[in-house]
Amino acid sequence: MKRFENKVVLVTGGGSGLGRASALQVAREGAKLVLVDLNKDGLEESKKEILSVAPEAEVEVVEADVADQKEVEKFVQYTVDKFGKIDGFFNNAGVEGKQSETENYGIDEFNRVVSINLNGVFYGMKYVLKVMKEQGFGSIVNTASVGGIRGIGNQSGYAASKHGVVGLTRNSGVEYGQYGVSIKAIAPGAIMTPMVEGSLKQIGGENWEEVGKEFVSVNPMKRFGKPEEIGYLVAFLLSDQADFINAAVVPIDGGQSYKY
Ligand code: NAD
Repeated sequence: MKRFENKVVLVTGGGSGLGRASALQVAREGAKLVLVDLNKDGLEESKKEILSVAPEAEVEVVEADVADQKEVEKFVQYTVDKFGKIDGFFNNAGVEGKQSETENYGIDEFNRVVSINLNGVFYGMKYVLKVMKEQGFGSIVNTASVGGIRGIGNQSGYAASKHGVVGLTRNSGVEYGQYGVSIKAIAPGAIMTPMVEGSLKQIGGENWEEVGKEFVSVNPMKRFGKPEEIGYLVAFLLSDQADFINAAVVPIDGGQSYKY
């Protein structure tokens, strides 16, 4: 199945984890891609992996900070200049932030996490939606989290930003459906990427793998999710098959968020 033949997909956080896995999936199905990340080496590695599975793919990489409004405006314009349109936007770059109880949560850390995870997602939507409205089509998938629909604890900045991503998704989905544009959010549980590894190391240090096993023992499926499982979902949500899914938040967490 080649759902992305002649389609242009823009991915932030494309240099690692969920962004890379999703880029790989849409590239396999024919997409032309612009990958954005702060991490240049990560971008090059993603491009290499994509070309190994989809040698014909056109892949552009852009080193940029999603928390910088001007840089976001530029990479959106770059995508349109390069490929003429944006069919799909995976608005995904994010950071977890340091873990601590609310009273000890650093104010600078709170502002940093919110500026990337929430302001960054808003900037992306702002500039991409203008393009998609003019085109009369397009799909946006924002990356929220289980931490955006439930309380997890020790993550003030992350929780605030991811709940905010859910709010932006619902608000703009309601506004832009009439223009043929749909906006969704995904709410992943723990998916084994460098971010989750970093989080387990914050909690468990050298024993992080043990902490990981304990962590997933309460998940109904008793395992971490795999990045490629996110890739399959994101590809579906960005494809024409999911046009009527709008302003919706889709959990992908083995059932974790329904278990409390
Ligand atoms: P990751 O660390 O593997 O990838 C995130 C990428 O975003 C990195 O390449 C990083 O360089 C990039 N990035 C960070 N700040 C940036 C910025 N300011 N500008 C541009 N790029 C930036 O992590 P991941 O697990 O793939 O996370 C991707 C998204 O999924 C994040 O929004 C994260 O909050 C969310 N998420 C992940 C999980 C999980 O379990 N892995 C669960 C829920 C939500």
